[in-house]
Amino acid sequence: MMEMMKVAVMEGIGKIGFVERPIPQPGSGEVLVKLEFVGICGSDLHYYNSGRIGDYIVEPPFVLGHECGGTVVKVGEGVSHLCQGDRVALEPGKTCGQCDFCRQGLYNLCPDVVFFATPPVDGVFQEYVAHEAALCFKLPEKVSTLEGALIEPLAVGFHAAAQGGAKIGQTTVVFGSGCIGLVTMMALKAYGVSCVYVVDNLKLRLDKATELGADGVINFNETDPVEAVMKLTDGKGCDLAIDTSGSPSAATQAIHACRKGAVIVMVGYTSDGMLTLPMGLAMDKEQRFETVFRYRHVYPAAIKAVADGRVNLKGIVTHTFDFADVQKAMDQSIANKAEIVKAAIKISDAK
Ligand SMILES: [Zn+2]
Ligand SMILES: [Zn+2]
Repeated sequence: MMEMMKVAVMEGIGKIGFVERPIPQPGSGEVLVKLEFVGICGSDLHYYNSGRIGDYIVEPPFVLGHECGGTVVKVGEGVSHLCQGDRVALEPGKTCGQCDFCRQGLYNLCPDVVFFATPPVDGVFQEYVAHEAALCFKLPEKVSTLEGALIEPLAVGFHAAAQGGAKIGQTTVVFGSGCIGLVTMMALKAYGVSCVYVVDNLKLRLDKATELGADGVINFNETDPVEAVMKLTDGKGCDLAIDTSGSPSAATQAIHACRKGAVIVMVGYTSDGMLTLPMGLAMDKEQRFETVFRYRHVYPAAIKAVADGRVNLKGIVTHTFDFADVQKAMDQSIANKAEIVKAAIKISDAK
């Protein structure tokens, strides 16, 4: 008889149910991973709540979840770098390896990428997944599978820091103090920047930023962020700004709050993808803009930064839910954004 696993499927907007599906078998070059933790990402919440992100439209039944860690339980043919029992973080995007972008190493731009929980590709709110072994990164002893799951968002933070050319000694500002804002702040610290200020309006998230190492936080409900940054930097402004908030005003504030020659990195999408900016001022200041689409080549460095204690990754998790409570986890993450900074689903017990 075929062995079955539990899968949480999105049956419609705001509705999760459970089905049984056969446990997949690892093909050649793949491993079978028993999942232990899956993080809930803003994109999962967006699909759950509205059924789409831009042109990606959910056709139920659809499986959400793309931030995952677990233990290898079966190794497919031709896999030599992983063994049964290895704990791994899974990079969710399988690329073609053949296109110009893949060949140039810009694999995050591959047009044929197959990425967990991006319609029509199912995600990993399920007990097992068969995945390309090259995209499964072995976790050192010190790094848990919960942290393994969170390497995915951390990778975005590292890529943002890299795109911005973050350097030791810089003064920086991060707009947004959600999961991506927090991991970006921690990535900047891991890069050795001297100072990271974080801007948001949710007190609990700002407290979290302080707890995790931000050098200063700015509540934009209470103070004008540009004035606050100027005051904190003795009128000099920042060397680097990273917007993770997607708020239409954040990039404008970044232009004002950054010095001449600074770099501004866009990570958060505005709700309609459009943005109006004081470009003349940005040009007068010869500021440069960078953008971020997911990440590339950062899992090994991100895992090492966590193992070395440079990034307190599990510190971002405020809530964990059992697998049976996926619906509750999603509903509460949406309803209680002020308190739930980051939630994760515990799919199974760690070995
Ligand atoms: Zn994510
Ligand atoms: Zn490709």
